[in-house]
Amino acid sequence: MKKETLINITGGVLLVGATAIGARQILRERAPNDSESPGVKQTTDLNLESSNLKEILTGKSQDEIETLKSNYFAIAQNFQNLYGQRISVEGDRIGSILDSDVESELNKEAKNNVVLGALISERFFPDKVRVSDDYNTVTFEENTVLDLNNPLNLSITAAFIENIFLFEQSLSGLNNGEIVVFYALPTPEEIDRENRDLKWLANADVNIVIELGSFAILPKDHLVKMSRILQELEVNKIPFPKEIKFKNPSPEDPGGSYYNSKTDRPFSIVIYNSTDSDTEAHEIGHFVSDAHNMDQASDNLTAHSQDAFTQMIDGIKEKFNTTDSVTETVDLVEEYANKFRMYFQDGDTFRYLILNAQSDIEKEVLLQEYRFFKELFNNREFRADGVLVKKLEDVEIKAGNIIEITDTDTERPGIFLRPSPTLGIDASYPVAWDEDEVKILEGPQYFTDTDGRTVEMWRVRLGNYFYDKFYESKNENGGLIDGWMSSEWFGRLVSN
Ligand SMILES: [Zn+2]
Repeated sequence: MKKETLINITGGVLLVGATAIGARQILRERAPNDSESPGVKQTTDLNLESSNLKEILTGKSQDEIETLKSNYFAIAQNFQNLYGQRISVEGDRIGSILDSDVESELNKEAKNNVVLGALISERFFPDKVRVSDDYNTVTFEENTVLDLNNPLNLSITAAFIENIFLFEQSLSGLNNGEIVVFYALPTPEEIDRENRDLKWLANADVNIVIELGSFAILPKDHLVKMSRILQELEVNKIPFPKEIKFKNPSPEDPGGSYYNSKTDRPFSIVIYNSTDSDTEAHEIGHFVSDAHNMDQASDNLTAHSQDAFTQMIDGIKEKFNTTDSVTETVDLVEEYANKFRMYFQDGDTFRYLILNAQSDIEKEVLLQEYRFFKELFNNREFRADGVLVKKLEDVEIKAGNIIEITDTDTERPGIFLRPSPTLGIDASYPVAWDEDEVKILEGPQYFTDTDGRTVEMWRVRLGNYFYDKFYESKNENGGLIDGWMSSEWFGRLVSN
């Protein structure tokens, strides 16, 4: 063993040197002497050789399996850290000192760890997970078959396993009434949604390449966020980039790159492993701004090209008679990609920025940018993490329901509660805001507005729903806050 750097990776110790890695469980067959090196502390007997993975579980008690489960997570996390380049060695990035055969050994170990996780999951939820006898495929919920020798499928499998364990924890938290645990963990609904996103990605016809040495396991947040933005492209009939490639960066590389129509690898995206999971949507933004140059581009893409965006901003400058930069970044190509990402992944923040703009010109720029992307996405609007803004549809409303309000109006937000089931406003009456919760008291009552539309009104009470209970809001006199509002503002049934 020459140069030695210790990284705790498997509950034992991984030794990263210029030429060798020493931990027994990482490279058992490769360098028998290294495993006996002084300074290599074995804290578990875990042996992740693929030939005996099933034996690891044989005859183990539930408690022992729980320990194996924590080990699985610790190892998975360490692989993510290692590959996410968040551990630096002597001021250098670790990825750059690993040679390719060390990397392929590490990838093998990462795969074996995923198989182990899948075997543990299979033991807990035999109806959800099935591992093939040769450890080459894992089947989820009987219909998603993942080939573990494909790096993307391997990563998707790891994400499923993470969610299976989280789901189990989340449920046991609920059963025990542990509110703290419940709120620290994703809800079963959130896990369910992520699993749907992962399944979509597993079956999607997208060219995703995870290069050796970039990520052993692409983290779940990258997979889920990438899946969501790609699904949104599909919904809006926007083509996919020709390729999305994950790479190990060289020191001067940024988080990601887009190769446009004028380059030798047009319409492709590169994501470096040193970046966070917002990068995919940003780079896809660059792609969308350029995608009208593809064959058979739609009118929608042409109307929302980079040129169209730049002209829109120039128009605002002209209107306000200024040559100053009026956008967040001087570079309008970056401005497009930033706001594309924000529109989809951070819609609440985008609307907040509009409502709190500090000047007329800032408001105008933000409003026009918002409308630009709203049109591109065919009027679909989003909250955080690409969650679609919803209006309540096809739900029978009745007294006692708790409903979340949806109001994404960026110019005149807020809904006055009415003293009676008409449009008549009493300015002394309170206002309900986007994402406020109300309890239905009575209704419906109907009236026809000045455009001849029938409006359905319900009497509601403001409050907050928290862990199975509705806490009524009070006005300054300690009274309850009731009033009538139109069902067009109802966004989501929180509880019935
Ligand atoms: Zn960019």
